[in-house]
Amino acid sequence: MGAVMGSKNLKAVAVRGTHDVNVANLEGFKEFIKMIHERMKGPATKKYKTLGTPENVLVLNSLFALATRNWTNASFEGADKVSGEYLNEHYVKKIVGCATCGMRCDHIAVVPEGPYKGSTSRLEFECLWSMGPLCGIDRLDAIIEAMRIVNEYGMDGISIGVVVAFAMDLYEHGIITKEQTDGIDLRFGNAEALIAIIHKIGKREGWLGNILAEGVAKAAELIGGDAYKYACHIKGLELPGYDLRTLKTAALGFSVSFRGACHLRNGAYSPDVKGKVNRFKIEKGRGKMIADEGNMYNIIDSLIVCKFSRGTYYDGWKDLANYYTLATGIPMTPEEMTKDGERIENLARLFNIREGKGTRKYDDVPYKIKNYPVPDEGPAKGACVNDEEMAIGLDDYYSVRGWTADGVPTVEKLKALGLDDLAYIAEKANKGGA
Ligand code: SF4
Repeated sequence: MGAVMGSKNLKAVAVRGTHDVNVANLEGFKEFIKMIHERMKGPATKKYKTLGTPENVLVLNSLFALATRNWTNASFEGADKVSGEYLNEHYVKKIVGCATCGMRCDHIAVVPEGPYKGSTSRLEFECLWSMGPLCGIDRLDAIIEAMRIVNEYGMDGISIGVVVAFAMDLYEHGIITKEQTDGIDLRFGNAEALIAIIHKIGKREGWLGNILAEGVAKAAELIGGDAYKYACHIKGLELPGYDLRTLKTAALGFSVSFRGACHLRNGAYSPDVKGKVNRFKIEKGRGKMIADEGNMYNIIDSLIVCKFSRGTYYDGWKDLANYYTLATGIPMTPEEMTKDGERIENLARLFNIREGKGTRKYDDVPYKIKNYPVPDEGPAKGACVNDEEMAIGLDDYYSVRGWTADGVPTVEKLKALGLDDLAYIAEKANKGGA
């Protein structure tokens, strides 16, 4: 959406309304919301209300799943200094939330002293990680300042951290030189270099700033040579904060996501982190987990409810269907809603196929995840994703989805979902046209 708006030089759409927004069953809706609010006081949302998502830093670090120095290491020696615990004790000044939210996850951090004194920003795990451990940086003052300026430039905090870590990796390997960075010593761990290069990217300044502003996929293409080996993205979107070498359900889930490596398209990291599966392996059965969760994420997004509330829908699809019916007055069963989630996934898949990027060869993990085994001593040593297990996982996922071995929805599946009018896209792809 942002890219489409950008290409049209459209900055924002402002809407002003003069009528109320009503729901179909006001009393029933109020009762339902009250119940969800009560549940928000429970354990499902505890993390968001206390340390916030930065709690993940130490959890992932202990699992060797905290990608460090552009997926070189899977744990960070400076994790304690950038943990949710440390952040809350030394930097968080205020916890706020969106209007009427019972969880209030928003942790506002302020730098109390030093070169970035006074810098203020909201900090979530993903951006703390991308501009912290992923760049080898253990200074929260610089990470808060980095987040602040990224927000001012209107750039994505995950993508920026990944693109800077990529550039640092290239610099450390001599693929780009100090001359090309305009004198910035872009080694891992250099907090001042992080701030300096973000400004350059934001202004598209200099040869490197201009190239990195394109994101890692395009930047690797423009730099050429071996640069692609260090570019960590899926379908052009930079990887989020999970080491896919040690969280392999997530590796499969992110690879098939229609938006690329997005942690908000499915929660495939959850069974890995919670120990529900052997996270060092991809095996049959993961396809169903990913498909079920993906369908539900599609609906949560379409209902426009906060994803942090997902743990409060104790009755799963029943709660979500109820929510919809109370708000719209349109009867909805859990079964119909599950099918809607599936329809969204198939529609998005068809969109990608039509645009030439929706088939099996695009469902893959980055070079570094497959070719750079975890070097850290411990249970994760040597872990990386191989083509054989990716093939097992993709076959399984496609069969659960009712897609061909090339990842194209079958005409029967599209008909069952009421998408007959778009079957021509799948037929064309199956004839080798996509
Ligand atoms: S609605 Fe979501 S993002 Fe907003 S404060 Fe509540 S939990 Fe946080």
